[in-house]
Amino acid sequence: MKKIALHWQILIAFILAILVGIFLKDYVIYFSWMGDIFLRLLKMIVIPLILSSIISGVANMGSDSNFSRLGLKTLAYYLTTTVLAIIVGLLLVNLIKPGVGMDISSIPVHESININKQSISDLLIQIVPQNIFYSMANNEFLSVIFFAIIAGIFIGRIDTKYKVTLTDFFNASFELFMKMTMLIIKLAPFGIFGLIVKVVAEQNDFGNMVIKLGSFMLTVIAAILIHALITLPLLTKIIGKAKPFKHLNNVKTTLITAFSTASSAAALPLNMKETHEKSGVSYKITNFTLPLGATVNMDGTSIYIAAVVMFIAQAKGVDMGLKEQIILLIIAVFSSIGTAAVPMASLVMITIILEVLGLPIEYMALILPIDRILDMFRTATNVWSDSCGAVIIAKSEGEILNV
Ligand code: ASP
Repeated sequence: MKKIALHWQILIAFILAILVGIFLKDYVIYFSWMGDIFLRLLKMIVIPLILSSIISGVANMGSDSNFSRLGLKTLAYYLTTTVLAIIVGLLLVNLIKPGVGMDISSIPVHESININKQSISDLLIQIVPQNIFYSMANNEFLSVIFFAIIAGIFIGRIDTKYKVTLTDFFNASFELFMKMTMLIIKLAPFGIFGLIVKVVAEQNDFGNMVIKLGSFMLTVIAAILIHALITLPLLTKIIGKAKPFKHLNNVKTTLITAFSTASSAAALPLNMKETHEKSGVSYKITNFTLPLGATVNMDGTSIYIAAVVMFIAQAKGVDMGLKEQIILLIIAVFSSIGTAAVPMASLVMITIILEVLGLPIEYMALILPIDRILDMFRTATNVWSDSCGAVIIAKSEGEILNV
């Protein structure tokens, strides 16, 4: 029998959950445990996955002085585009306010909202861990990401013998946790079913919820398109002095692959091939920037993460002023770095972000059904940004390209 693709399974689970939630309200308790287990599994894998993914990505970067210069340029590009992406996302969510007026009072809240209590300087100080084991045990993911980046950089600088051992170790750990993550993601239809059944059964105004989710979805897609079709081409044209739309045409198969697989990792080999063969970026630059970009540079993902938090905060009536949104921007930058390059990886990240911000992770149920569609858009943008970065950096190194 032909296997049904995951996104169809999710859709079927969603529709079934709505039917069960509406017509079999009294039996919800028999299904909701699946959602709880799914959320626990996501939380279980997040710290090991972040740690191994970043350390292995950064440690494989190389360390001679040539690479240090390239590394700095590349990281500066990644940071700039991610921040620009989040700003566009936040602007649109503030403008459209997709979450305002959505009734989620039926979803139980266990904790108070912490984001209003935190100051920006405290957040920045707390990024540096006092004790990495404490941070890991307490889901302080910003500190874990910070530690992982530093550890990755320094693995590149130690004696070759140890460098090889440690790089191998973290590459192997990454493979392991990635495999486990893929299995958890395969269970998503059951998790989604369990979570949605509960939400629908407790929802008074289901129609309103669907409209709000639709408007959230369009907001995210609009922000992603602005970033992909205006911001990134402008950067490629102005800083890279290259032809962005010719380059877009060159890497279109890569982008279609990213869109349909929803995995930056799956699109990486093709991205390296097309960016090199069609746009003329040297192997030296593609081999350095693109694998690193696939792991740490996720503009579409950062837009999504910031938008999800804003959406839930709006629905919950939490006031998100400038300070809170700057905190969110910092969190989204780090989270997008920590997100693995596989389908629905943001979900893993979002469980932990909601927890840190004091928003119950049960709220995730709201966005689960539309996650996969948005994943396609954000992954294509993640990959497109990596490729534009390769062009800009190649030009800054004096390479003559076809674009
Ligand atoms: N699927 C995305 C990627 O591979 C990550 C995410 O879930 O946002 O780039």
